[in-house]
Amino acid sequence: SLRCGIVGLPNVGKSTLFNAITAKQAEAANYPFCTIEPNVGTVLVPDSRLQTLSEIAKTSTIIPATLEIVDIAGLVRGASKGEGLGNQFLSHIREVDAIVHVVRCFEDSDVVHVHGKVDPADDISTIETELLLADLDSMEKRMDKLRKNAKKEKELMPAVELAEKLIKGLGDGIPARTILETDEEKELGKQFFLLSAKPVLFAANVSDNDLPDGNAYTEQVKKIAEDSGSNMLIISAKSEAEIAELPEEERPEFLQSLGLEMSGLDRIIRTAYDLLGLHTYFTAGEKEVRAWTIRKEAAAPEAAAAIHTDFEKGFIRAEVISYDDMVQYGSELKAKEAGRMRSEGKEYIVKDGDVIVFRFNV
Ligand code: GDP
Repeated sequence: SLRCGIVGLPNVGKSTLFNAITAKQAEAANYPFCTIEPNVGTVLVPDSRLQTLSEIAKTSTIIPATLEIVDIAGLVRGASKGEGLGNQFLSHIREVDAIVHVVRCFEDSDVVHVHGKVDPADDISTIETELLLADLDSMEKRMDKLRKNAKKEKELMPAVELAEKLIKGLGDGIPARTILETDEEKELGKQFFLLSAKPVLFAANVSDNDLPDGNAYTEQVKKIAEDSGSNMLIISAKSEAEIAELPEEERPEFLQSLGLEMSGLDRIIRTAYDLLGLHTYFTAGEKEVRAWTIRKEAAAPEAAAAIHTDFEKGFIRAEVISYDDMVQYGSELKAKEAGRMRSEGKEYIVKDGDVIVFRFNV
C-alpha cells in the first residue's frame, strides 16, 4: 500500500490530524488490514463508485483502496546533523511515497510556536532545508564513487552529469523535485533516493473560522506551493478531529456548516492520489467488489500485478467494461450482450474506473 508521511515543525497540528485519521481507521476495523505500528494509520480511499458496483454485482463485500499515513514527528532545525530525532526522522521520510507537510496557519497564544511566531514561509524553509542538507550530504558521499565508476563505464556519464546538477541545485537551496525537470531526469534521479524529490502536499492548518478560504498565512503557503510545483490544501486539524468523532450520518451537515464539501482528510487522500499520478480500476464479482490502485500510465499486465505478481507474468488478456457501461447496462452480462465488454491485450493502458476480469496462465 502507498505511504504518505505527515511532517512539520512541532505544535503545528500533526498529531491532531493523525489522531483524526486513526479514529476513522477504527471504524473500518472489519477490513482486512495488516497489523500496524502506532504511528501508522491506514485510511480508506473514498470512492462512491464502489457502493454502486456492489449493488450491480449483488455483493455486500466492498474492499476500498487504502493509503498508509505515517506520523513522522521529531523534525527540528538541525535534524540533518542528527539533532533531535534527526536521523530517525529522515529514515522514516525515505520510506514514504509522498509527503504531507503540515504548516501552522492559525494564531493561538496558548499554543507555543517553536520559533516564537507564526511564520509559514520560515517554517516551510526550516523543514525543506533539513531535507536539502540531508540530500546534499548523501549526494556528495556518492559522487567520488560515481565518478570513478564512470571512468570505466561510459554509460554512467549521464548519472554523473545529473549528480553534478543536483549538487549545484541543492546547494542553492532548490529541492530535487524542482531540479529534476524532464521524465528522463526523474527516472535517472530515482537511484539517488532523495528526500527532497518526493512529491509534497502542503496542508495549511487553520482555525475553523478561517475555513474554507484561508487567511493571509495560507496565501503565503499557496505561493510557495505554486513556485515549487507542489500542491496545497487548507484544512483545520481541530475540525477534522471533531468530524472524526461524529457519527457518519451527521458529518455532511457539519461539513456544510464549515463551508466544505469533503472532509480535509478525504481531500488529502484525493490530492495525494493525483500527486502520485495514481488512479483506480475495479474488480467486481459475487464474492467482492474491490478497488485497485495503479499508476495512470500502467498497462494491463502491470495493473494485473496489483492483484498478484503471477497475474503479470501469465497475462493473456483483460476483459474490460467501463464503469459507466456497468451502470448503464446494470450487470456484467447485459453489458456483455450489448457488446460493451472489450477484450484488451498487453498494450492496453487501463483507464480510471475500468471494471476488469483478467485472463492469465498459471
Ligand atoms: P504537533 O506537535 O504538530 O503534532 O501538534 P499537535 O497536533 O499536538 O497540536 C499542538 C497544539 O495545537 C494542540 O494543543 C492542538 O490542540 C492545537 N491545534 C492544532 N490545530 C489547531 C488549530 O487549527 N487551531 C488551534 N487554535 N489550535 C490547534
